[in-house]
Amino acid sequence: MSHPCMRCGACCAAFRVAFHWMETDAAGGVTPAGLTEQLGAHRVNMLGTNTYEPHCTALVGEVGVATHCGIYALRPSPCRELKAAWEDGTPSPQCDRARAKYGMPPLTLADFA
Ligand code: SF4
Ligand code: SF4
Repeated sequence: MSHPCMRCGACCAAFRVAFHWMETDAAGGVTPAGLTEQLGAHRVNMLGTNTYEPHCTALVGEVGVATHCGIYALRPSPCRELKAAWEDGTPSPQCDRARAKYGMPPLTLADFA
């Protein structure tokens, strides 16, 4: 069974993805600065996520069908920190909320059986 995130991608198209500019490759980090925009003095956000209908420009594929992050190894900390619900045995309200936005039910432990 493939990982449920590969059939989802909702969290990449539901929230503003903001982080410190030091995480960008322009400042010695890894996340491509060209895929970010300034958000205040010390923060940036992933392009496409600071809108009423967020959709990260690095997301490849169609939400709810087949998706993956186009910069997976270089993704910023908020993306690394957001866990799929129950993947490690704990809930993830952000995951549940993002999936609900696209009419998908929350994950359960069975999704990782
Ligand atoms: S919303 Fe949850 S299941 Fe969907 S891609 Fe994000 S972490 Fe994975
Ligand atoms: S950088 Fe990748 S993991 Fe993060 S929101 Fe964009 S597509 Fe999703």
